[in-house]
Amino acid sequence: PAPPPELDEFDNIKVAVRVRPPNAQELARGDAQALFVNQDDFRQIQLAVPAGYSRNGVPITRNFTFHACLGPTSRQQDVLRLCGITQLLDASLDGYNSTVLAYGQTGSGKTFTMAGREDALLAEGYMGDSDDGIMARSLDYLFKQAAHRSSSDGCRYSLRVSFAEIYNEQIYDLIRFDKKPLQVRWDATAGFHAPELLKKECTSLEEALQVSFVDLAGSERLRDSKSAGETLKETTNINRSLFMLGKVIAALADGAQGARVPYRESKLTKLLMNSLGGSSLSLLIACCSPSATHFEETLSTLSYASRAK
Ligand code: ADP
Ligand code: MG
Repeated sequence: PAPPPELDEFDNIKVAVRVRPPNAQELARGDAQALFVNQDDFRQIQLAVPAGYSRNGVPITRNFTFHACLGPTSRQQDVLRLCGITQLLDASLDGYNSTVLAYGQTGSGKTFTMAGREDALLAEGYMGDSDDGIMARSLDYLFKQAAHRSSSDGCRYSLRVSFAEIYNEQIYDLIRFDKKPLQVRWDATAGFHAPELLKKECTSLEEALQVSFVDLAGSERLRDSKSAGETLKETTNINRSLFMLGKVIAALADGAQGARVPYRESKLTKLLMNSLGGSSLSLLIACCSPSATHFEETLSTLSYASRAK
């Protein structure tokens, strides 16, 4: 089909915040709650840190505005609608690139938000689950919409799934699951891409779920068994990718184009080049713990996310 028209009536990058409920440890310690979504305006969130938690004993209050803020009681089935993901999915069926990124410290709810509870997804005879995350719900939506559209426009929609991991500035195929890193190439039509990355055609939600859901945890858990030098290299590489992603997003949010957007500085930003710039639609979900104990990480997550608006 013909390339879709330029998008100008949308914000190309939207930013949402999701606060998870307190976990058992935070409850047992009696941690104060530090993040509050404004009940009259779901775009506003306040970080309010009581005196006892900050280093110099001074309370901290900071207000932030995003496109949507989801508090600890938000339900998985509401995330697509509240974060505007159905619009991204509709746009992707119209031919636009759409991207959803989760960001936040370990344990803040990224996997839960994107994938849901893994045990439910891996269960025999999976039929959909109330804890399903964005991935299963999006695939379900795409298959239904594609069927609906093809019955009226006569087009044949084909859905192909690939799943990759970037680790230590190397790209690995998580569907093929071999240990060999993939090459990154550039050409004018496809931009930066990994030609060997498997793109598996899927005809049903069940089929798509079977190839996609691999445990993403890896990097955090592996770290314990590594030498200090390896850990440092890993952390530096992870930080480099995330730091450059922050720079790219901030540059795009400022309206920068072409060579002024530093895509080439990391593997992550190279691969996301087509998904972020131009007439692509992106959603960044900043995941946060509600607890005052984690306020420093939360402040850094919210500041990072703020640069993207
Ligand atoms: P991350 O992927 O950011 O490291 P996880 O998604 O694994 O964090 O979340 C850490 C823990 O908190 C998991 O046990 C997860 O099930 C739980 N959790 C995260 N977000 C929510 C939520 N919104 N509601 C209920 N439990 C959640
Ligand atoms: Mg995770």
